[in-house]
Amino acid sequence: MNKKTLRDIEVRNKRVIVRCDFNVPMDGEGNITDDKRIVASIPTIRYLVDHGARVILMSHLGRPKGKVDPKYSMVPVGRRLGELLGREVIVAKDVIGEDARLKSGQMKPGELMLLENVRFHKEETDNDPSFAKELASMAEVFVNDAFGTAHRAHASTEGIAKFLPAVAGFLIEKELEMLGGALEKPDRPFTAVLGGSKVSDKIDVISSLLDKVDNLLIGGGMMFTFLKARGLETGKSIVEDDKVPLAGELMEKAAQRGVKLVLPVDTVVAEAFQNDARHYSVPVERIPRDYMGLDIGEKTRDIFRSIISESKTVVWNGPMGVFEMPNFASGTLEVAKAMAECKGKSIVGGGDSAAAVEQLGFADRMTHVSTGGGASLEFLEGKELPGITVLMDK
Ligand code: ADP
Ligand code: MG
Repeated sequence: MNKKTLRDIEVRNKRVIVRCDFNVPMDGEGNITDDKRIVASIPTIRYLVDHGARVILMSHLGRPKGKVDPKYSMVPVGRRLGELLGREVIVAKDVIGEDARLKSGQMKPGELMLLENVRFHKEETDNDPSFAKELASMAEVFVNDAFGTAHRAHASTEGIAKFLPAVAGFLIEKELEMLGGALEKPDRPFTAVLGGSKVSDKIDVISSLLDKVDNLLIGGGMMFTFLKARGLETGKSIVEDDKVPLAGELMEKAAQRGVKLVLPVDTVVAEAFQNDARHYSVPVERIPRDYMGLDIGEKTRDIFRSIISESKTVVWNGPMGVFEMPNFASGTLEVAKAMAECKGKSIVGGGDSAAAVEQLGFADRMTHVSTGGGASLEFLEGKELPGITVLMDK
């Protein structure tokens, strides 16, 4: 990675402001339902504490839309973080107000403070320079460790870096090493597995990966736009008619580059978009007019499994079917299993894909499951992430 990290700067006794991604799911009663993102931020925080920094943490939580809303207070996050670290985490009553200033001024080396939700101010998402400057004025060093928000140029992710020496935290470093490493110098064969609902969401990923991979396996709802481009009947399956020509072009491009683009040979079709709808598996040439495809079929799973198992690098984005419904989760499950068993590198990016792998119990057996969601998708698309671009080069 060509960006400076925490290890490249002196932090002892310094006030270090860290942008974390503490945007955790909550149950509506102030309870955190999944603390994965808080856990992922621990290595950076622990390093700073151990090296005698005065640590000011900040994040957004939910969408308070620029107003103070107690429903989105960081207090539960501070409590959970304190439990995980086994130390006190002071939570400021505001973001750049009197309380935050007073408390940041009184901090001793090794102490931790969490600011209130940065999105309590609309200046955050506006990337307002004076708001960014106010945040910066509380510290001497900025660390960005919020990979999940790195694709957004906000005051706490991008703007602030213009006022302070700015480096990457360990989570961002790890994400870039894993995702970037796989894309830049993959061990081959290199296979991408792409699914999800819409081709339109994934065009940029497909195009970008077509230049890099040996195999491109396509499942999920977007397979039907490709099947339609091949002239097949797709019934009531999700199809983006205006993207059919594009799907055709992508298949041609793959053929020109010698990339093996693999479409499903069979699909599980259902009478309705419901778990208990009548369903069965058919070859893709025989999708009934009044049925919709909600998963890849068994033969396809076998084909995908064998390609994955022979790969040295596999990157996966997008579920193979409507995995939220148990009757249509098998394709996603089989791909997850094949990746877990694959001896090569297995990397999962994308919000729903990460959730699927987690839910199906395979997360621990992957080389890397990105915490990034949208950010990991943009990274795979080959886009620059503003929250990373702005950090100091090595
Ligand atoms: P990610 O967040 O990992 O990038 P997407 O958001 O692109 O993934 O896609 C996830 C969604 O795609 C899931 O909610 C899943 O139900 C849906 N999906 C997968 N296959 C189909 C299908 N055949 N028909 C309709 N929706 C599908
Ligand atoms: Mg999604």
